[in-house]
Amino acid sequence: MAELDILKKSNSKKVKKRERKEYNHKNYLENKEVVSKRTKKYKAEHKELYKKYSKNFYVRFRYALIELLGGTCVNCGFDDVRALQIDHINGDGAEERKKHRGSLLYKSMLERYIKDPQKFCVNYQLLCANCNWIKRSTNKEYKKPISKF
Ligand SMILES: [Zn+2]
Repeated sequence: MAELDILKKSNSKKVKKRERKEYNHKNYLENKEVVSKRTKKYKAEHKELYKKYSKNFYVRFRYALIELLGGTCVNCGFDDVRALQIDHINGDGAEERKKHRGSLLYKSMLERYIKDPQKFCVNYQLLCANCNWIKRSTNKEYKKPISKF
C-alpha cells in the first residue's frame, strides 16, 4: 500500500532526525545568538522551500487518508478531493487540531487508521465541505452558532 510506504519513509527518517536534533540543540545552546540569527536568515531566504516541504507531506497524508476512507462524501457522494474533509463524527476536531498541527495531524490519523481501521472509522468519516458545514451547524459544533444568513 502506497500509504504504508509513506509512513515507513517518514518513520525511518525519525532516528536520524532525532540525532540531528540533539546535535543542533547542543550546538544551539553553545552558540545561541549566532545560530538563531543564521536560522532566521536562512528561513527568510528559503520561505518557499519551507512551505513546499511541509505542504508536500500534508498533501500526501491527506490524500492517502481520503483514499482509505472511500474517496467520497458519506452523505451525498461528492468525490472531488479538493473539497473533501475528514470529519470527526463526535465533533471534537478543534481539540485534535490544537494537539497536532499541519501534516502531523494527518500523519497521526494515518497511523491510527493503520493500527485499527474499524476503530478509526467509528470516530472519523469523509464529508464534503458542504455536508461538513451543515453538520457542524446542525449539531452546534461551535462555540458561536453560525446564522443561516
Ligand atoms: Zn456531501
